Amino acid sequence: MKNKNSLSRRNFLTKSALSAGAVGLGLVQVQGAELKSTEKGSDGDQSPINIAEEKPKTNSDGKVIAPSPLIYINTLFDNGSPLFWNIESDGKITIELLYDYERNTINRANSHWHFQLLAKPGSDLTLVLKNFYNIWNGYLDLTDATEETICFVSEDGLNWKSIQTKLLDGQKLEVKVHMNSESLFVSRLEPYGLSDLELLKAEIAKHSLVKITEIGKTFEGRPLEIIRIGHSDAPYRVFIRSRAHAWEVGGNWVVQGLIRSLISDSFKSNRYLDRYAVYIMPMANKDRVVRGGTRFTVGGVNLNRNWDKAADPKYNPENAALETWLEQMIKHGLRPDLAIDIHNDGQGNLHFSHPSVNLEKYMNNMNRFEKILRKHTWYTEGAKKSSFKNSGTFGEGLVERYGIDAFIYELNANWIEGLSKVPYGEDWELLGKQLKEVFYDYFKNE
Ligand SMILES: [Zn+2]
Repeated sequence: MKNKNSLSRRNFLTKSALSAGAVGLGLVQVQGAELKSTEKGSDGDQSPINIAEEKPKTNSDGKVIAPSPLIYINTLFDNGSPLFWNIESDGKITIELLYDYERNTINRANSHWHFQLLAKPGSDLTLVLKNFYNIWNGYLDLTDATEETICFVSEDGLNWKSIQTKLLDGQKLEVKVHMNSESLFVSRLEPYGLSDLELLKAEIAKHSLVKITEIGKTFEGRPLEIIRIGHSDAPYRVFIRSRAHAWEVGGNWVVQGLIRSLISDSFKSNRYLDRYAVYIMPMANKDRVVRGGTRFTVGGVNLNRNWDKAADPKYNPENAALETWLEQMIKHGLRPDLAIDIHNDGQGNLHFSHPSVNLEKYMNNMNRFEKILRKHTWYTEGAKKSSFKNSGTFGEGLVERYGIDAFIYELNANWIEGLSKVPYGEDWELLGKQLKEVFYDYFKNE
């Protein structure tokens, strides 16, 4: 078993901020056509919802049996996940998570949960999380429910602690929790919601090294921003995008660590910012983050696909705004020299692209970057082999369409090999802090 860590600290996040982001209540989407039970009823009922299975257990008087200390499950807050729940006759609580869907494909995804349990203090609850039959690139994929999948709990929504899950029947996750008080938040990873980003922006907005520019709006009209740290006339530029996939919080923690580190000491920062400027799109898939989803935008788009052609601004305003911004940067002689799209998965590799043009120069740069990353950070995981190709991703699109050295960094969501521990927000913030030295070295050798 992996180690259980002490509480991490997120002192900057206040309780009022937790509720401040609770926008868009009543958002639960009806996706019933795909939400049929995975097991057929014994009566052979083919309807999408098997009523016989869903019916609560009752006693001889017809009264529903609910032998549970559970009072309520709240999901209506920033990044809270839509779900159904049911108290079973054995007292376990089944939690049916909802998939989000990609338009024009059969792909669907559920890897995220974030909800607040309200229950009798002192009680123990057993939760069974369901619906991990994801469809990824057209294939059934159960890799988000594994022996390694971790979970986080917090009494106040500020201080989080990792706990283990137990894989049941190869496709469900059991989570056991103890209620020290009436309330307990439960989340896939240490959360980073839109309210956290708003707090960070408020903290840094007036700093002389920071410029925040709105470059467009999401499908639901939320502003999309680029945060620049440093000077527009710096010799080199690095672009970082995070949170293209809503459940993958790692990138938000990394860029928060990088930003705070670069502006914390102006004398030392100048050493870095005389050499390079950092441009960050911190939360590409804001709508789905707010709604507590997993992967696709509310417009049904995978922001890490179809980069081989221009994004449709109607359904994919997130990527369309980013493309327009990149084109403007290039037009003004400010082409990024390096671009990183930060994600989470269960492995933690760098995914270099394999473009049809200038492959040798690109691969030399990427191999050099990896070497420097190993030297200055806790990264040890490795890079995908050159045979790996995932067409239409951010990396390939930026290399082939814009001539930018770009790649994808998949942070392992469950384990950091270099630190021998499960990842907390502060561990990813540390990586961000260490990245400033990586960029310094990388651009020195250009
Ligand atoms: Zn991803």
